[in-house]
Amino acid sequence: MVIAIDGTSASGKSTNARLVAKALGFVYVDTGAMYRTLAWHCLQAHIDVHNARAVTAACRRWKTKLACVDGHVRLLVDGYFPEKEIRTAEVSVAVSVVATVPKVREWMKKKQRECIQFGNLVMEGRDIGTNVFPETDYKYYLDAHLEERTKRRAAEGVNENLAARDQRDSQRATAPLMIALGARVINNSNLTSEQTSSMILEDMRQRLAAEAK
Ligand code: C5P
Repeated sequence: MVIAIDGTSASGKSTNARLVAKALGFVYVDTGAMYRTLAWHCLQAHIDVHNARAVTAACRRWKTKLACVDGHVRLLVDGYFPEKEIRTAEVSVAVSVVATVPKVREWMKKKQRECIQFGNLVMEGRDIGTNVFPETDYKYYLDAHLEERTKRRAAEGVNENLAARDQRDSQRATAPLMIALGARVINNSNLTSEQTSSMILEDMRQRLAAEAK
């Protein structure tokens, strides 16, 4: 079973996906972290992220491994998970550029689908319900006002132009950010993460109970 949670940047996908995964005993997958890890790798290797051919070649040669640690999937690079390194402002700018490369998205989709080996999933990102697991019935789309999202990121110590990233993510040719058909849309501008995750959990419980009948 896969619960797909997509949405704009800083719309609370990670926090809510973690809470939902924990409550249901599912494995949590942050696909943004996978794209960030590739962007970090390119920056480390001095690969121009605007050069799609070079990024594709780097992705092909890349030695990675999926691991599940404490219910969270990680993409390890030479056995290492660059948890802090992928959250820098530099990576945040580079990531949505590497994410436009079609071959990169193909590679990511394959890895992301392989995560099912770890069990039932709550997977969050931009194209999970539309492209990675379009067959799942459980799709959610989170959003919040830009001002509120910018405030949330600033509270985490990151000042970022979220509108620019949203625009790149929504306007790219391959698997752009959009609301999947049948997704439940939650605008959580005025909600806490507990309230948002409770809405998802309640909806899931009702649906699972109805399906069990
Ligand atoms: O979720 P997070 O903000 O960490 O994602 C970083 C970036 O990775 C997004 O802005 C987007 O460019 C890319 N991404 C994507 N598809 C996903 C997840 C993330 O294109 N499924």
